[in-house]
Amino acid sequence: MTKKKILITCALPYVNNIPHLGNIIQVLSADVFARYQRHTPNEVLYVCGTDEHGTTTESIALKEGLSPQEICDKYYKKHKEIYEWFNISFDYFGRTSTHYHHEITQDLFLKAYNNGYIFEKDLEQTYCPKCEKFLADRFVEGTCPHCGSANARGDQCEDCSKVLDAKELIDPCCTICGSAATIRTSRHLFLDLPKLSDKLESWIEGKRNWSANARNFSLGWIHEGLEPRCITRDLQWGVKVPLEGWDNKVFYVWFDACIGYISITADYAAHTNDDWKRWWKDPDVDLYQFMGKDNVPFHTIMFPATLMAADDGYILVHQLSSTEYLNYEGGAFSKSRGRGIFGNDVIDTSIPVDVWRYYIYINRPEKSDVDFTWEDFQKRNNEELVGNLGNFIYRALTFVNKYYDGVVPDVDD
Ligand SMILES: [Zn+2]
Ligand SMILES: [Zn+2]
Repeated sequence: MTKKKILITCALPYVNNIPHLGNIIQVLSADVFARYQRHTPNEVLYVCGTDEHGTTTESIALKEGLSPQEICDKYYKKHKEIYEWFNISFDYFGRTSTHYHHEITQDLFLKAYNNGYIFEKDLEQTYCPKCEKFLADRFVEGTCPHCGSANARGDQCEDCSKVLDAKELIDPCCTICGSAATIRTSRHLFLDLPKLSDKLESWIEGKRNWSANARNFSLGWIHEGLEPRCITRDLQWGVKVPLEGWDNKVFYVWFDACIGYISITADYAAHTNDDWKRWWKDPDVDLYQFMGKDNVPFHTIMFPATLMAADDGYILVHQLSSTEYLNYEGGAFSKSRGRGIFGNDVIDTSIPVDVWRYYIYINRPEKSDVDFTWEDFQKRNNEELVGNLGNFIYRALTFVNKYYDGVVPDVDD
């Protein structure tokens, strides 16, 4: 068997959320695959880490009276502890606030910019005259235009779950100072996805090894017509735009999050005397990416588009594995509503980790959403682990004791 290089990634968990069982399915799936690959002659690297940018980090930092970096440090530690408890065999669990991440993101952007795949355009945006600040997503609240709920956020209404554009809010106000927000024009950068559409289409057409679902879904997006995507935000916390006159903007988190796979590899390489380019710029490496279904377009369209636009010898995804959602006793997991089991709750149950690993994995939502219920968890544990596996081991040990004096005999070929 020829030796290959297998690079494995799992969608980066958002740093401010404590991972729940649905998130753990992703890291666990990639973990099982990595453990399998390590039994072959292949060289394997499994990287993951926390996605630390975005408006939520900045707004939680304001609320908790800490800096965004301190917030990320605090939550990064929690993530790391939970995955360690679950025995996830990462070769490296990094983060996106490192200098490697900033450098590689800026380098990819500049290459795409110089290759003509980035353009500027004005956008109308909510603005707070008192704070003298454009208000991204969560920094603006108002009345939901769909259901009339009073405290809808700028990106989504928690009551009716509709995704919102902050400009649609009725009586919008600034969440930092409480004053009324106005609308102003702000200049932004866009990735020219329509210009990359043909290239993306022929690449995806050739991915016969993908699941029919992933392939058709991605081609469907392209056939509907790709829109240019805004890649900048009016925030301080994030990767700065490396162009003159763009000091008050950072890259939108969707643009830099996937680049985290590369920068985390670079961070790992710096710690181990490896060369990250050996993993990301060698066409003989097979890149396997694991994620939930909501993340598929970022891995089949947006991230490949960024790498194609930069045209700098990066490999693209070889195979992706996505799951449907895991629900909890008939509804979605929600930290704010206290619904579901989160990583820290799992640790507190004192149920051994392998029982959790077994049940989460055997219950992986392959083709449709799956419901976690305590009753089924108990039943599968009692019937499959205690009943089948436990009984098998018990009988085998009994025979070894009875007929072979308690020593497993050598086996002839
Ligand atoms: Zn609403
Ligand atoms: Zn304000």
